[in-house]
Amino acid sequence: MKIVPMQGIVLRYSNFKEADRMLTILTPDRGKIQVLARGCRKQKSRFLSASELFSYCDYMLFEYRDIYILTGADINDVFFDIRNDVERFAYGTYILNLTEISANPEEGSYPLFYLLLYSITMLAYSDMCPEDINNIYQMKLSDILGYRPKLERCVYCDRTVSDVDRFSIYNGGVVCKDCYDREKTGYNIHMGTLQTMRYILNTDLNKLKNLKFTPQVRSELSHLMEQYLAQRLERYAKAKEFIERLKA
Ligand SMILES: [Zn+2]
Repeated sequence: MKIVPMQGIVLRYSNFKEADRMLTILTPDRGKIQVLARGCRKQKSRFLSASELFSYCDYMLFEYRDIYILTGADINDVFFDIRNDVERFAYGTYILNLTEISANPEEGSYPLFYLLLYSITMLAYSDMCPEDINNIYQMKLSDILGYRPKLERCVYCDRTVSDVDRFSIYNGGVVCKDCYDREKTGYNIHMGTLQTMRYILNTDLNKLKNLKFTPQVRSELSHLMEQYLAQRLERYAKAKEFIERLKA
């Protein structure tokens, strides 16, 4: 019997049988994995908290064919404060969902794991607006996945640009005035939003904790990055609908 220790965060679960649960867990070493948690929904189960969304644990897993079976768990944090607030929970599940879409099975990524851990820690314990935490998450995610938007040079003519006001979601970057006049593609984008995007991409996560967004930058960036990622990941995160309903 081969038991492997693994750090992980629960991204999703599905209940089956009377008290079992199949967990989708993000690990730094092996990407997303499927873990069977037997009997975890029983009131007295020692795996009850370790099988909830957002739970961050040191798991002991038994490798069995293409899944893992949960045999032990030391809880690092369950991020209870996220589940306790409807807005934090909506953005939190959106982030879990987008992470699940972005992660590959058996393909580890420390940056992706760290970004998720950072984002849910901020959601649970900081005063930053959940939408702004999500904005930072989406910008950093695009970079990790190799879709870093091009913000210094025009996507058409490659000229260095400073005072642009157009962003092309399809082409993945800014469009200069001449090219915009010719191509007529690109969203109108404010200078403040562009500067914020550059700042987020060029700054370490730990130094973004006190970043302030104006309402204009906040909503423009949310809208832009949701569509930008959706196009590249080819499907919307399901939890997005929940956020839309919340906003309405
Ligand atoms: Zn151009």
